[in-house]
Amino acid sequence: DIELAGLCKSFDGATNVVDGVNLKIPDGAYCCFLGPSGCGKTTILRMIAGHEDPTAGEIVIGGENVVGLAPVERRTAMMFQSYALFPHLSVRDNIAFALRVRGQSKAERYKAVDRMMEKVRLTELADRLPANLSGGQQQRVALARAAITEPRVLLLDEPLSALDEQLRVQMRQELRRMQRDLGITFVHVTHTQLEAIALADIVVVMEKGKIKQAGPAREVYAHPRDRYVAEFLGGQN
Ligand code: ATP
Repeated sequence: DIELAGLCKSFDGATNVVDGVNLKIPDGAYCCFLGPSGCGKTTILRMIAGHEDPTAGEIVIGGENVVGLAPVERRTAMMFQSYALFPHLSVRDNIAFALRVRGQSKAERYKAVDRMMEKVRLTELADRLPANLSGGQQQRVALARAAITEPRVLLLDEPLSALDEQLRVQMRQELRRMQRDLGITFVHVTHTQLEAIALADIVVVMEKGKIKQAGPAREVYAHPRDRYVAEFLGGQN
């Protein structure tokens, strides 16, 4: 499980952009943080990944408080909006790149890469360059590259926001399927209501650094706690 306890972040010493967040995310869940721009979603992801230190509170992953640990020691992985694939490397080499610091032999690394490609249906594309892949295939490569390090949690910051509407809908299904196939906990940040509802086991609705409501997507949607949540979920997007 991932547990956030009393998590706070202030950049200026005066206002908390993350303000006392408490949340438990079960292993293997797909969790979406949903809220308007500036409500602190990205800051929470960055604190889980270790790119930002909390001002107060704990981040417990698998029973261990990881605050203070370097990002590489946390066994988390992050996937960004632009998939940041290396254009001159094949699919296979892009995925293998994530293992370069592991001290494994090349044969061991490529065995793991082949297994991963099998799992996410990339075997036939192994020798292609990113430029010759569709958007969805690129996303699969980026996810495979993140997943091969065996993270305990995969953090996704607005992974679909650069895509057009049609592709976005298709990619949602892809993300959901990959999360199931990989069995990794996903924490996904979005300001798009439909994205959260389509993807999440657990939706966390935020306002100004605080959680307004968290729970199973269907329950939050059917029983919004207050007007803010109802209006936010009911909004167009
Ligand atoms: P968006 O969807 O626009 O990315 P968000 O909900 O992810 O919004 P954050 O990026 O977490 O919000 O930002 C929360 C608040 O913290 C914002 O007011 C932002 O300006 C501020 N903030 C974020 N990073 C820093 C920083 N490094 N220094 C100062 N303020 C910051």
